[in-house]
Amino acid sequence: MIPYLCPEMPEEQKAALHKAVRAANQTTTVLIRNWEAFKKAGVNRVDTPTRFFGGFALGVPWAPNEGVPDMDPKKGVLVTFMTGANSGILNNETMTRTLMGYDMPDKLSMQEQFRMVRMGLLQTPFATFERAVRSQMNDALGPYGFDAARDIVGITVNRWPHGFAMAQNSLFDPPSPTGEQPYEIARRRFGRISIANSDASGQDLCNTAIDQGFRAVEEMVPHNYGYFNRI
Ligand SMILES: Cc1cc2nc3c(=O)[nH]c(=O)nc-3n(C[C@H](O)[C@H](O)[C@H](O)COP(=O)(O)OP(=O)(O)OC[C@H]3O[C@@H](n4cnc5c(N)ncnc54)[C@H](O)[C@@H]3O)c2cc1C
Repeated sequence: MIPYLCPEMPEEQKAALHKAVRAANQTTTVLIRNWEAFKKAGVNRVDTPTRFFGGFALGVPWAPNEGVPDMDPKKGVLVTFMTGANSGILNNETMTRTLMGYDMPDKLSMQEQFRMVRMGLLQTPFATFERAVRSQMNDALGPYGFDAARDIVGITVNRWPHGFAMAQNSLFDPPSPTGEQPYEIARRRFGRISIANSDASGQDLCNTAIDQGFRAVEEMVPHNYGYFNRI
């Protein structure tokens, strides 16, 4: 947004700001009537690296009574459906292909891939996620008595189209000639504009977002040291 609003901004900084494209992700949460099939199978998590969801796992038990969790498998529980081994949809080839409707083309930059998979994430109907939940649970736990039609109470799909700030990819991006990283160039103060956000740190963390917010505000605070200004 800022590069469009500030036509007089140096081209180098505009280009660096345009590199701040975030990774997309999802988490799907499923309420089931009971977890007896998990108990019978002797698992609390199922990894499915070649399927739409990379895996699913029983939620951490709720512990309302002085920290003692209710471990009754006849009671309802939440199951979390993860994307893959790591955060970010591009880690899961099957999910990426399903959301986009085709394989990710070769030779695209990381930023282009993030944009494409984001579009797919937002355009994919809920039914696609629902079908994957039902079939993956039935396939893994059907032999232990699970029946998706009977045992699933509700499904929530959370989509983060702009989830995680990403920096350089040291495998594919050319090294910076000056050593200054694109996010450092992007966050330079421009007149009365100071730039915050996790993107300004090149890392997708709450603490770096807070640090960058602090820095951006500090940049705007007039520091008047009186006589010492002239030294
Ligand atoms: C699922 C998930 C799990 C995570 N887990 C962790 C974790 O465990 N630990 C951790 O440290 N970090 C975690 N993160 C990352 C962390 O949440 C983010 O790095 C952090 O919230 C980024 O803060 P931010 O202020 O840079 O941006 P955001 O929190 O994304 O805030 C940007 C804000 O700008 C608003 N906005 C966007 N465009 C406009 C516009 N044109 N006009 C006005 N407003 C606009 C957006 O609505 C949003 O409110 C997680 C992120 C996700 C998605």
